[in-house]
Amino acid sequence: MTTVAPASTDTSDIPSVVAKLRKTFATGRTRDVAWRKRQLEALEKLVTENEGAIAEALEKDLGRKPFEAWLADIASTASEAADAAKNVGKWTKRKHRLLEKAQLPGRAWIEYEPFGVVLVIGAWNFPFALTLGPAVGALAAGNAVVLKPSEVSPASSALMAELVPKYLDTDAVAVIEGDGAVSQELIAQGFDKLCFTGGTEIGRKVYQAAAEHLTPVTLELGGKSPVIVAADADIAVAAKRIAWTKLINSGQICIAPDYLLVDASVRDELVAKIGETIAKFEAGSSGKKIVNERHFGRLTAALAATKGDVAVGGGSNAANIEIEPTVVVDPALDEPLMTDEIFGPILPIVTVKNLDEAIDFVNSRPKPLAAYLFTKSKATRERVIKEVTAGGMLVNHLLFQFSTTKLPFGGVGPSGMGSYHGRFGFEEFSHRKSVLTKPTRPDLTTMIYPPYTDKAWKLARKLF
Ligand code: NAD
Repeated sequence: MTTVAPASTDTSDIPSVVAKLRKTFATGRTRDVAWRKRQLEALEKLVTENEGAIAEALEKDLGRKPFEAWLADIASTASEAADAAKNVGKWTKRKHRLLEKAQLPGRAWIEYEPFGVVLVIGAWNFPFALTLGPAVGALAAGNAVVLKPSEVSPASSALMAELVPKYLDTDAVAVIEGDGAVSQELIAQGFDKLCFTGGTEIGRKVYQAAAEHLTPVTLELGGKSPVIVAADADIAVAAKRIAWTKLINSGQICIAPDYLLVDASVRDELVAKIGETIAKFEAGSSGKKIVNERHFGRLTAALAATKGDVAVGGGSNAANIEIEPTVVVDPALDEPLMTDEIFGPILPIVTVKNLDEAIDFVNSRPKPLAAYLFTKSKATRERVIKEVTAGGMLVNHLLFQFSTTKLPFGGVGPSGMGSYHGRFGFEEFSHRKSVLTKPTRPDLTTMIYPPYTDKAWKLARKLF
């Protein structure tokens, strides 16, 4: 059984687990497309057959409702795995390229090669989707994989450690549980590829440690994802969509609406409608559960420090580590709510005079993982798409850019590098090997072999 559990500091087994995976990879077993397909189908089964246990673990770790557990962790991982199982045969095919005249005769193609043994370090907020999801791309690409779930969601981590060996090839896929020290010990093994999901600061440390081994990295990081609400937005729908997506998983989502930039002419209407929506969606709830005391303390301190008007909520309950859904209007731009990623159920709303001000605001800050816009106007939409840089963009809704296999998901600059989902995950975990084959006869290069005559030079100038 290739599981090391649950060790926060005991790292003694790590080299032998990695050595075992290396040995398996060297046999070529994981390159076989039928093997990849079987692993992907098994991964889909792992999440669908254990829906109840997964929902229970998510409830224990995060206080998540079963519907949200299914939508965000189970359905998304299952559809990624199913899509990859269906398409992996097509994805692995050589991509032939037409050569320039000077390169003829010859044939050229891209050969997709697995990197080898891949390390996936997951985050706690969607522990299954953000650990097993990247594994889909890694397995589709024919790699052996070590999964390191987050220790901050221990029930989910333990469940993955229990289930993965039951469904997947134990000689090629291992779960190693533990904290940051375990992650660092793993990175020190010198993996062939690493995918990390987590905060930007830890991402920096991971990148530095990986550089020691020149391990290529995919960094899925965080940041403050803005929502621009233009004067012509459908305010009733915008309010519902923003309130819903801010409160899923208590706002602990990397692509949650972090703050709003709202045109002054619709600000009050939007605040009122978000307040009404929250009252309806959260009727009977005592507050949103925060993952742990550290994060609860960070959020309540940010709220206590605000210079904005608390228009909705504002309360918290330390005994249950719960925070009321909260809306803060016009906080100071240099206070924690506006400088740090919120990752909780608090929504700051910044009033702007016009679209120019909103675009300038976003572009004057670190490039976000997601940028959102509510508008009915095509011209406004096109301007924001062209002028705002972000990992991804969604117009008139939120979050759904994560749940399609048709688009790459990833950040830019401080919100990350590299991307995955669908074919993009396969590509991310594959080395694109360039292959050029040439016949030996006729040996046309004879025309330019040394000694270099003027005639050969003239010909070479024409050709190249
Ligand atoms: P985190 O950075 O605290 O931890 C992520 C992982 O890193 C965990 O598995 C943890 O054990 C490990 N880790 C901790 N210290 C480490 C170290 N020194 N070296 C190596 N690994 C270490 O992140 P988190 O709190 O789990 O998640 C929240 C952050 O992640 C937010 O910023 C959020 O925006 C971001 N996030 C990004 C995405 C995305 O897809 N881009 C998804 C979810 C979360």
